[in-house]
Amino acid sequence: MVFLGEPNLYVNEQKVMPFTRKKSLKVLCVFDGNGRYETQDERIIAKMKPNFKHVDNGILPLKVVDRGNQIITCNICGHTFNNKGFAMAHFRKEHKRGDL
Ligand SMILES: [Zn+2]
Repeated sequence: MVFLGEPNLYVNEQKVMPFTRKKSLKVLCVFDGNGRYETQDERIIAKMKPNFKHVDNGILPLKVVDRGNQIITCNICGHTFNNKGFAMAHFRKEHKRGDL
């Protein structure tokens, strides 16, 4: 699953120590420079899912919103395009990972 957030954002999880009841923060994940974080870890997915936008692996990055007017939205950052070529170029340039 791929989560979408602020580029380079650290997500912390709070842990309470079993005996001392002291709270500590642990880094759960860090978004990359494109604001993406990909994981297969069920525990992390469960924690992140309610708080962040997410897309399943394999989903197309571009969504055609209105076929008549050819409005295409980037599923990752929400940019809109009226030309599929521009959209693909944007995707390759801005979100190059090749796996989404
Ligand atoms: Zn984009």
